[in-house]
Amino acid sequence: MIVTYSPHHILHNPPKEFISNHVVAYGESPERAELIFEALMDIPHAALTRAEQFGMGHFYKVHAAAYLEYLQTAYAEWIAAGLWPEGIMPEFFALGKMRDHPPSRSPEGKAGFYMTDSCTMIVKGTWEAVRFSGFTALTGAKYLLLGESCVFSLCRPPGHHAGFDYAGGYCFVNNASLAAKFLQDQGVLEAKGRVKVGILDIDFHHGNGTQDIVQRLENILLVSIHGDPDYAYPYLTGFESENTLKNINFPLPPGISDDEYFLAFRDAISRLKQFGAQYLVVSLGVDTFEKEELGNFRLSSEIYTDLAEYLISEMDIPKLIVMEGGYNTAFLARNVVSFLMPFMNKYG
Ligand SMILES: [Zn+2]
Repeated sequence: MIVTYSPHHILHNPPKEFISNHVVAYGESPERAELIFEALMDIPHAALTRAEQFGMGHFYKVHAAAYLEYLQTAYAEWIAAGLWPEGIMPEFFALGKMRDHPPSRSPEGKAGFYMTDSCTMIVKGTWEAVRFSGFTALTGAKYLLLGESCVFSLCRPPGHHAGFDYAGGYCFVNNASLAAKFLQDQGVLEAKGRVKVGILDIDFHHGNGTQDIVQRLENILLVSIHGDPDYAYPYLTGFESENTLKNINFPLPPGISDDEYFLAFRDAISRLKQFGAQYLVVSLGVDTFEKEELGNFRLSSEIYTDLAEYLISEMDIPKLIVMEGGYNTAFLARNVVSFLMPFMNKYG
């Protein structure tokens, strides 16, 4: 099975974040992708393939132009203004009508306008890493269009909290949406007409950014299983009451076990089948694991294999698996491999 990756992720290495009312080392570390990469190097079925570069036009189909320009210029502007050289962390956030007009010219104002939290930081190499994380997803999508049945894109930074015009939750460009839109646009000829793409988000946290973006697209359905926002980041989105024809939320309470999770997973798959997806993008987070500090579920390593086997048995369409979260580095690679092994066994 092809695994796409890019070494550029290492350029995004923020020193710290502000979370749960204290400053800690940045949880979304380069070590995360390195550990997964090293584990996959030991697996003969994993064909590690470097990401190719694509035109930026694909990014503009899922993100606002002004936001993408901000990501590219933010750090230089911040430094030119004599601000903290380690990186950009907003100290003020745009609420309500403050987002109805363009941001002020101040770098602090722009940070508060385009970023949703203080656990996400822009450093000197962020844009280069983000761009190649998007390319990693696009390269995976390209291989599906060339006939591969399943590809894993080892994206870093992750993407599902990045909205149409904002960064947050360690995310800057929405890799899953980028790939879904690419599959839809490029897959038209092969499908001889409209292409439906499903996105299954199984990261512990609600993919608020993906939900925001799919509202603006057609024939893409997002189905997300995540921690109830009454108890989990991003706190303000992910409720069932937000369900539309374009997104279906399955918020689950703290302490969910393997069996309880599997029932929700089965329902989620049936919704994607009803939709008639022709391609599936899986936003894979393993922060649903029982020993994950940033999550409150109680899933075992073994359940990831069961979920993958069920998905393979129920949905015989091309699948792109995109890496999202998972922060306990002692178990991260093992849990990712646990999910990927059935695909590797099935698709070689
Ligand atoms: Zn997460």
